[in-house]
Amino acid sequence: MQYSSIMPLFLFDTLTRRKREFKPLHDKEVRLYSCGLTVYNFGHIGNFSHYIFVDFLKRYLKFEGYKVMHVRNITDVGHLVDDADEGEDKMLRASRLEKKDPWEIAKFYTEAFSHDCETLGLEKPDQEPKATDHIQGMIDMIATLIEKGIAYKAKDGVYFDISKFPQYGELSGNKVADLEAGARVEVNTNKKNPVDFALWKTDQPEHIMQWDSPWGRGYPGWHIECSAMSKEYLGEQLDIHTGGEDNIFPHHECEIAQSEGVSGKKFVNFWMHKRYLLVEGEKMSKSKGNFYTLSDLHLKWLEQGFSGDMKEAAQIFKFLVLSAHYRSQLDFGFKALTDAYKAWEKIDVAIHRAGDAVPNDTIKGIREEFEKYELHFYQALGDDLNTPNALAAMFDYVRELNAALDGDGISLVEQEHAETFFNEFQGLFGVDINLYTLTPDLMDMVMQREEARKVKDFALSDKLRQELLEKGVEVKDKKTGVEWRRTLILSSKF
Ligand SMILES: [Zn+2]
Repeated sequence: MQYSSIMPLFLFDTLTRRKREFKPLHDKEVRLYSCGLTVYNFGHIGNFSHYIFVDFLKRYLKFEGYKVMHVRNITDVGHLVDDADEGEDKMLRASRLEKKDPWEIAKFYTEAFSHDCETLGLEKPDQEPKATDHIQGMIDMIATLIEKGIAYKAKDGVYFDISKFPQYGELSGNKVADLEAGARVEVNTNKKNPVDFALWKTDQPEHIMQWDSPWGRGYPGWHIECSAMSKEYLGEQLDIHTGGEDNIFPHHECEIAQSEGVSGKKFVNFWMHKRYLLVEGEKMSKSKGNFYTLSDLHLKWLEQGFSGDMKEAAQIFKFLVLSAHYRSQLDFGFKALTDAYKAWEKIDVAIHRAGDAVPNDTIKGIREEFEKYELHFYQALGDDLNTPNALAAMFDYVRELNAALDGDGISLVEQEHAETFFNEFQGLFGVDINLYTLTPDLMDMVMQREEARKVKDFALSDKLRQELLEKGVEVKDKKTGVEWRRTLILSSKF
């Protein structure tokens, strides 16, 4: 922990388009909001890459001594297919296809999402509000916007009047005139301006989820959900709001318009967006069939020689995501996953080597290189969470540590220092895989092989070693006894 208190933190803000020093609005307390999943399907790896980034951000802020209040909503109503105001509602479409009512759809996929987050080892948000539990908060905000003359009632609902909010477009860099030109193709004549967006939709009897409102029975627009839930749990001003890059427009642009329209205050101090993933060089899409859920990822990887379980596959995916900077584009593929595993394995082996070492009493203090690389690690994280640079410093550290262990060994202080540093690293990256634990049946095989070796039955001992290897366990005979460790990559394809 020695560097954390002196490390300034710079974060890139999408709105001002630059890195600024992060200071919370209230003391050491950070109010953080993340757009959650629309629960009409399983989360895919693109969604999870955003939540992995947020998890890291949270862990880092806590490590720096901040108290974090994190809210991540669940969108269980009103999210239209094209993210604008047209098209079929995603929840309704799923409900039609799966022949279940939308409440059942939402419940099922909300549970699946929680389970996936647990598999990834993501810390739970402090609040996980559902949109359908906050309809009144949305209605109140819409009423305020109408009162202030920023929103208006039309024939088929209530719309936000963007001509009353000149900052509209600042976050995404869109110009209202350009948006108008684009929107004219499908003009909804109920709107004053084609770019105005829906706050409340009425007159859609086929919509199953409906609520009473002062403007008639209907349902909320997607954007107002986040404005209402962030206000309810975090107040009118947030320190950090996160989302995927594809949320910038229109979703976050609309959130700013609504929230600032109501409060008259700056809504968010830092907007942070996770760059979207590519899958083998291409954008993810249903039609290309490269839309991976966590279980797709695990199954496909098993086919290619991975031997770990679902949780282990998810953990490696998490490490892969963190090995790229959150604002750079990560190209996901099984080769990349395998490389991430091998990189992580290198660190894990070093952790165990350092832990098992017998300190050398003749060496005093800490070598300069160890401290230098540790400092580089934290400096990189303070620079807009530059995880790839931090990992480069970690690998320098591991290389230096291995060289010392191969040579004269390490001092007691160096060993203790390594333990603290590795603990902090694991606390931040949160990769939870233990390659040094075996199931009882595998442990039995290791013991049988050891027995065979003792009685010099080398044929049996070699046979068991090969069998263990095929099950993902590497056994090495050392002067000090037998050493074993699981390895999750069985295939030589990579
Ligand atoms: Zn949102």
